[in-house]
Amino acid sequence: MQTYLQTPIEYLKGVGSARAVLLQKELGVKTFEDLLEYYPFRYVDRTRFHTVRELRQLEGFAQLRGRITRIHTTGAGRGKRMVASFTDATGSIDLVWFKGLKWIEKSIKVGSEILVYGKAKRFGSNWNITHPEIEDFNPNQAARFEPVYHSGEKLTAKGLSTKGIAKLTQNLVANIKGKIPETLPHEVIEHYRLMPREEALIKVHAPLNIEEAKRAQFRLKFEELLFLQLELLMRKKIMAAKSQGFSFEQVGDVFNDFYANYLPFELTGAQKRVLKEIRMDLRKGEQMNRLLQGDVGSGKTLVALLTMLFAVGNGFQAAIMAPTEILAKQHFESISELVAKMDLKVAILTGSSRTKERRILHEALEAGEIDILIGTHALIEPKVKFKNLGLVVIDEQHRFGVAQRAKLQKKNTRPPHVLVMTATPIPRTLAMTAYGDLDVSVIDELPPGRKPVETQHRYEKARPQIFSFLKREIEKGRQVYVVYPLIEESESMDYLNLMDGYESIQRSFPRPEYQISMVHGKMKPEDKEFEMQMFASGKTQIMVATTVIEVGVNVPNASVMIIESSERFGLSQLHQLRGRVGRGAEKSYCFLMSGDKISKEGKRRLETMVETNDGFKISEVDLELRGPGDIMGTQQSGLLNLKIADLVTDGPIVTIARETARNMLKLDPKLQEPKHAFIRTKLKTIMRSKPNWSKIA
Ligand code: ADP
Ligand code: MG
Repeated sequence: MQTYLQTPIEYLKGVGSARAVLLQKELGVKTFEDLLEYYPFRYVDRTRFHTVRELRQLEGFAQLRGRITRIHTTGAGRGKRMVASFTDATGSIDLVWFKGLKWIEKSIKVGSEILVYGKAKRFGSNWNITHPEIEDFNPNQAARFEPVYHSGEKLTAKGLSTKGIAKLTQNLVANIKGKIPETLPHEVIEHYRLMPREEALIKVHAPLNIEEAKRAQFRLKFEELLFLQLELLMRKKIMAAKSQGFSFEQVGDVFNDFYANYLPFELTGAQKRVLKEIRMDLRKGEQMNRLLQGDVGSGKTLVALLTMLFAVGNGFQAAIMAPTEILAKQHFESISELVAKMDLKVAILTGSSRTKERRILHEALEAGEIDILIGTHALIEPKVKFKNLGLVVIDEQHRFGVAQRAKLQKKNTRPPHVLVMTATPIPRTLAMTAYGDLDVSVIDELPPGRKPVETQHRYEKARPQIFSFLKREIEKGRQVYVVYPLIEESESMDYLNLMDGYESIQRSFPRPEYQISMVHGKMKPEDKEFEMQMFASGKTQIMVATTVIEVGVNVPNASVMIIESSERFGLSQLHQLRGRVGRGAEKSYCFLMSGDKISKEGKRRLETMVETNDGFKISEVDLELRGPGDIMGTQQSGLLNLKIADLVTDGPIVTIARETARNMLKLDPKLQEPKHAFIRTKLKTIMRSKPNWSKIA
């Protein structure tokens, strides 16, 4: 029966060779099946009739039944239009056309009963519908619920407007009864009460009402997402089979000792759950590839440390890689302090480690004398050799490239386990899909006692007030960040603004009462480091900076964040920046400074920041504003070529599709059972047709 669906589109009634070429070129529709899967993006409800009187209460689209009593042309030039008076038993309104006047004049018959469909608008005391759809009333025609398709200029020119396409799909679905095989096993259909595939394909194009359309869409979205999830899980399995990993059999004394004696605070529920997930991974004998997502300040570092202690307790070395020297140093200091009383050797390696130190370190690493190595990407250089590396933690994943992760795989006889940590929150259902071969753990809970950062959007004229506020905070012993944008395209202007800002802050906060630090990307690393240390140790009270401080920096005493030209920042950046304050016990503040003129989107971003501190909520707005393609980069864009499902809005369906895919593979790992025959064949085709992006994720 497949053969029917593979029929070239040319042979569908109403197509022919010229339109076939166009359909293929414009929509990629080559076969009957392609057209079946060219789904409407919305529906128009023509099942209801309204009266002219009702229009006055009605917002939006209406369908009327009545007669045209009079028609005339009026106005001149661009204002020239055709106006028809339309009447039903309850009143009359005007129908108006500005375009296609000749054609309208010819086709409209005064006095016969017609149907009118369109959006009614009020003009003073009059109501009218501009460019309505009109057709003869036919008492034998069933009430309709019409699909609307995306079309285009070229298609429309050849009669394939949204209506033209609808005619074709109606021709097609009229003939497919009995020709569409079911793809899903009976129990899945039962369990989720899905429409059978054939019915869904018919109803998605020709539903009787919105409920039917929704059920049809649900079935088709589910199926599409199920195949996507099956594909992801299959690829992951293939990868896992290829890369055997070390099995960490025990929790280990090192972990237990730390947990019992040195854990600085009770773990949050989320931290515990995530650790369990990691622990399960580590004993499976497969290489772990796990993404740990957690909002800024959710306590990822502690999870990283505990994970490294699993490795050490099983006789392996562990490494943690940070995106910047400043962060590597911070990790080194905080981790060294936490394990100070234990018999553990912790070392740091960064780009600025001296040659002699390096040599000693290299030797110690190879001899297995170092348990935990902390560093920047310097630690994945080929000349850095480990005795027995079992785990690598990568902090703030978005700063690391694919090639760097690949280097890691060669660091031992088997590839070390990998834990990738990121504070860039994306909705879980999207993450599950976007990160292909990575498993995802989420810390969705902040440590207790965190106060949300009070956030305000302020304009330039409020600056004097804000500066006096800063003075009061500094008097109380707090510290302040002032952050300027630095966007590549306008870099030199941005540096000027930064310097201007720095000078004006110096004027408003004069020495010796106030001490100011500044860091930006053009400074030498050691100068940056020096300024950061001055601020971290409280010797300076104000830190003027570009976004170099965005990631990870931890100065709990800093309680105010001022973001200049905040309308120019993206949402996730604003959230990261704000995450630099609110880390201590004090109430913290974030002021989003902006010019008077802000784009609509800019306003929405700032409003969102003012409204919420929740990184996941913020990421949802971000997603809405930018779209998933933008957020995940082009690598995964192939993934987003979905025909009917939407990874952003169909999150719940993603979840059940994932669950179904998991169960299916658990019970029938190779999909060899007869009831999975169709799925298996289709999956094979899909896997062959796509480049192996799962390696990239
Ligand atoms: P991030 O996830 O942004 O990397 P950190 O690991 O830097 O967050 O943790 C932020 C702060 O929260 C640190 O000061 C850390 O010591 C503290 N912290 C982490 N876990 C807990 C916990 N369970 N209870 C209390 N404080 C915690
Ligand atoms: Mg961190």
